[in-house]
Amino acid sequence: MKALIAGGGIAGPVTAMALQRAGIDAEVFEAHRPGGGEAGSYLTVASNGLDALRAVGADTPVLAAGFPTPTNVLLSGTGRRLGSASNGGRLADGTVSHTIKRARLYQALHEEAAGRGIRIEHGRRLAGAEPAAGGGVAVSFEDGTRATGDLLIGADGVHSPTRRLIDPAAPGGRYVGLVNFGGYTPASAGAAEPGVWHMIFGRRAFFGHVADPAGGTVWFANVPRPAVSAAERAATTDEQWQRQLVELFAGDAGPASDLIAGGYLELAGDSTHDLPSVPVWHRGPMVIVGDAAHAPSPSSGQGASMAAEDAVVLAKCLRDLPDIPQALAAYEGLRRKRVERIVAQGARTGSAKTPGPVGRALRDLALPLVFKLLVTDRSMAWIHQHHIDWDTPVSSPPQRV
Ligand SMILES: Cc1cc2nc3c(=O)[nH]c(=O)nc-3n(C[C@H](O)[C@H](O)[C@H](O)COP(=O)(O)OP(=O)(O)OC[C@H]3O[C@@H](n4cnc5c(N)ncnc54)[C@H](O)[C@@H]3O)c2cc1C
Repeated sequence: MKALIAGGGIAGPVTAMALQRAGIDAEVFEAHRPGGGEAGSYLTVASNGLDALRAVGADTPVLAAGFPTPTNVLLSGTGRRLGSASNGGRLADGTVSHTIKRARLYQALHEEAAGRGIRIEHGRRLAGAEPAAGGGVAVSFEDGTRATGDLLIGADGVHSPTRRLIDPAAPGGRYVGLVNFGGYTPASAGAAEPGVWHMIFGRRAFFGHVADPAGGTVWFANVPRPAVSAAERAATTDEQWQRQLVELFAGDAGPASDLIAGGYLELAGDSTHDLPSVPVWHRGPMVIVGDAAHAPSPSSGQGASMAAEDAVVLAKCLRDLPDIPQALAAYEGLRRKRVERIVAQGARTGSAKTPGPVGRALRDLALPLVFKLLVTDRSMAWIHQHHIDWDTPVSSPPQRV
């Protein structure tokens, strides 16, 4: 069997490695040219994502690309400590979630896949797909080239073209009301404890910062506002965005304004979209994985981890079930409920960042109790302790999780 994978972000190379482990050939077609993977700031790979990567032996390079961040401390804009919580769980051997620059995660996965002999073609943007004459699928790319295989796997992100090839009526991403910025300051933020994300519910926007091992500070800002239009993006320089952010956080306790003024942006004016439910995940020999099927808001910290889980489960289904239609149905059956629940949880977390003044006061009163009683390691275990055993065969019909 040969699988064609559209998209070489996070889901793409992990799916290719999982398929290879299942004895299935895979080739990855990434739209960007080599070097185009530098975009983006930092994301979390949580313990469940590390566990999935471990199933295909790809956890070590990923861990090396980032740094451990096991804890979140929540603070109000007045500097009051609202609570603390695990950031992404802990595996049985003590491995904790890691914060990783997306470009380094991308590079680590590409190098690992290439080292295993997996072909990743850059500059190949999927444009169309149709059933091939003798079975399987024939795909075409924007550069006029074509490829054929038994299966097309769309790992092509939140704006996935494969999703629309499978179902022309498929939904697009939903704007969640927050514009995202990510940056780096080559200086520390005072006494910030290593491995701790400080999350500040500011008066007008949300700010997170963590010390990185190089001695600098990784930070992000989520700003409640209308989505950034193409015209606004084109007309706004990084320096202008930074000035707007410094003003937004002026008056809040904490280092936000200083970090923004003293650093640089790596992700600017990114209107955050999620994808709560995609009705059709597969049709014939075509299927979607990762953000293409279920993009969470970054507030969930689960995008990359769910993508890795999808990859492992899909490969197991293709390995164990007698034909592609049964495998794709089993994959959806095993994944849909879990990922939709995580996307919904991420949307709830994001909405705590966008209240008005009354909601803000209530939130600051309620959050200490919420974090003490409701957001505990136990209550989050269904996300972080999720384990996919590579050797346990998938049976048909699948057990839903
Ligand atoms: C440039 C970029 C920067 C990001 N930065 C952040 C960040 O800072 N923080 C964060 O939390 N999340 C970020 N994300 C999202 C995060 O990577 C995903 O939520 C998550 O890792 C799931 O990965 P995925 O592989 O499903 O999707 P993605 O990581 O989005 O990967 C999809 C890949 O498909 C490729 N692609 C798209 N269309 C086509 C096509 N027609 N043909 C072939 N390939 C195609 C894209 O170029 C991309 O490489 C970013 C995504 C991208 C693409």
